[in-house]
Amino acid sequence: MKTIGLLGGMSWESTALYYRQINELVKEKLGGLHSAQIAMFSVDFQEIEELQHAGQWDATGEILSKAAEQVQNAGADFLLICTNTMHKVAPQIEAAIEIPLLHIADATAERIKSQGIKNIGLLGTRFTMEQDFYAGRLRDAHDLNVILPSKQDREIVHRVIYEELVLGVVRDESRREYLRIMETLCSEGAEGVIEGCTEIVMLVQQKHTGIPLFDTTFIHAQAAVEMALN
Ligand code: GLU
Repeated sequence: MKTIGLLGGMSWESTALYYRQINELVKEKLGGLHSAQIAMFSVDFQEIEELQHAGQWDATGEILSKAAEQVQNAGADFLLICTNTMHKVAPQIEAAIEIPLLHIADATAERIKSQGIKNIGLLGTRFTMEQDFYAGRLRDAHDLNVILPSKQDREIVHRVIYEELVLGVVRDESRREYLRIMETLCSEGAEGVIEGCTEIVMLVQQKHTGIPLFDTTFIHAQAAVEMALN
């Protein structure tokens, strides 16, 4: 079994989901007392969040590159950045390490395409929804037609992530808003919706809606286990 490297803490609420899901999947596949070999560095999210909102992405890239090197030195065979947003600095992180990066958008796009879906809604932080490193990659590298919420709804999705979900706060009112926004995306042609922020699954799960959901946390964790065991 290969050692899975995790760059976590963004937020720790979602990294805890990764840790549990990766171990549960390894247990399911190998049985017995098997569990995953994991090397993890979990950052202080306050520092990252302040730099993100100040637009100082290079500085976040430096912090994460150093952390990624430590994960590599701890014996990881490949790396996962346990957040969609921080894939903004994935090229900088990749340049700092020798081990491969398992990109969350690629793993998610493969899953969507395997279900024959072409038109896909995307919810995530403002950065993920509006910048090219994510929506652009889905369009250009995977030929998907990405449908985004209106500017006003993007603000709601972003605010709920930073003011509630990364703090572990799950509110029924916010779930209703997210479901309304997802339904609007489907009325505009989306055949499913990407939960493109690793905390969104804490708020909206498949049991809450008939719309096909693509939970990036679980998809990324599953791809990691496949890579570790193959
Ligand atoms: N975990 C979130 C994501 O997947 C947001 C937190 C962050 O900014 O990293 O985008």
